[in-house]
Amino acid sequence: MTDQALSELLRDRGQRVTSQRLVINRFLHEHDGHLTAEQVLAGVADALPGTALPTVYATLELFEDLGVVRRVQTGGGTMVFDPRTDPHHHLTCRRCGAVEDVEAPVELAGVLRRARRTGFEAEHAEVVVSGLCRECAANA
Ligand SMILES: [Zn+2]
Ligand SMILES: [Zn+2]
Repeated sequence: MTDQALSELLRDRGQRVTSQRLVINRFLHEHDGHLTAEQVLAGVADALPGTALPTVYATLELFEDLGVVRRVQTGGGTMVFDPRTDPHHHLTCRRCGAVEDVEAPVELAGVLRRARRTGFEAEHAEVVVSGLCRECAANA
């Protein structure tokens, strides 16, 4: 998402456009996403001196609400943020926490329908495949 698109989206939702929000969005895209909040903080520290981890989390949560990023639970239990929001799935390594995209046609409409039937406000569903990445498998 470009600076301009993010600015418009923030204004539409009555949110302020801040340099923090723009820099964090840019960083996520430049790094192809799948970053933890800690990695985002380390990456923007030079551009945004004095930024604290809770601010980064709050920004990423706002982005999630806006549909700008998705949260992916990794096999190691950490949370990464993904600026790619079109349907795709993930491979996560339970040893090193690596996250990779995987493209595969998966029929998830039935799961979403059933979720909604229970009153759950389902937004999206994806498949997370956990296991060992190539490097970890080679060193196992
Ligand atoms: Zn691994
Ligand atoms: Zn992804």
